[in-house]
Amino acid sequence: MLKTRITELFGIKHPVIQGGMQWVGYAELVSAVSNAGALGILTALTQPTPEDLTKEIERTREMTDQPFGVNLTILPTITPPPYEEYAQAIVGAGVKIVETAGRSPAPFMDLFKAYDVKVIHKCTSVRHALKAQSVGVSAITIDGFECAGHPGEDDIPSLVLLPQAAEALEIPVAGCGGFSDAKSLVAALALGGEAIVMGTRFMATKEAGIHQNVKDIMTEADERSTNLMFRTMHNTARVFKNSISDQVVEIESTGTAKFEDVKDLVAGQRGRVVFEKGDMEHGIWSAGISVARVKDIPTCDEMVSRLVSDAEDIIDGRLQKLKA
Ligand code: NAD
Repeated sequence: MLKTRITELFGIKHPVIQGGMQWVGYAELVSAVSNAGALGILTALTQPTPEDLTKEIERTREMTDQPFGVNLTILPTITPPPYEEYAQAIVGAGVKIVETAGRSPAPFMDLFKAYDVKVIHKCTSVRHALKAQSVGVSAITIDGFECAGHPGEDDIPSLVLLPQAAEALEIPVAGCGGFSDAKSLVAALALGGEAIVMGTRFMATKEAGIHQNVKDIMTEADERSTNLMFRTMHNTARVFKNSISDQVVEIESTGTAKFEDVKDLVAGQRGRVVFEKGDMEHGIWSAGISVARVKDIPTCDEMVSRLVSDAEDIIDGRLQKLKA
């Protein structure tokens, strides 16, 4: 058993969290992760309305009696969602763990505190983590440059960002970005992290409700299989390298591109078709560099159990021997 302040805080068996993932974080995956002893996280904005989110929370509860959370991401969107109503749906459904991301959670903290919700805030810099700590979040996920989705604009990899954050903060920190297996879990713990957050690795599991083609292509990927787009728009996003993300990068390389020039290519609704129909060139979809480390498609239970027991073997075996 690997016990940390984060396993204690959330009442979970293993220091492993499944990060919020747009169009992936549905009840089936989340309950499977939580049943495996890690922390599953539903994605609020994947549900078309706050009422649908309430139903998805109920569906998750039917499949697990273990703790799970809900992600609320506030980033630029083509159609701004009613964030406040989603937050109300979360507390109204009695969820006690929220992962906030994208922007300071400050506007929601009074509401979350009133309902005894523990907030883990995901951010990409130590300064934003300190700000979140000052407004009362319980833990931080620090997102290194390797991560899927939005790594921020500082480009600091987890190897430096995680220990910087862990040393600067009083509250516990989870590492995110590049983490996928036992080796990286042990590394995160050595760097001062108290859990790892994985998204990409959890996509390639049997319970993830995405098309088999997506999972298969992940097992064939390497460390050069992602693209960084929106660099010129200060909304950098790491996505899987395909013909659509290549086009976006090329359009941006002119240096004068506006969001309108790429809007039709990048729309989340197109990426959703990739996940649902398995047409790999239909749109963009998020993936971290750790996609290189995805070699198989296990169940969540198999993956988490293997990850934790291999991590214990590394600590008790290889690392102990090095010491001797
Ligand atoms: P969407 O269809 O509204 O937008 C598609 C992409 O374009 C997103 O990356 C969004 O941030 C970006 N975008 C939208 N308007 C923009 C603007 N004016 N300038 C620059 N970039 C702009 O998004 P969606 O796929 O429905 O996702 C909903 C929300 O979840 C978005 O805020 C998205 O960024 C976020 N998301 C986060 C992650 C992550 O961080 N891991 C992954 C996927 C989606």
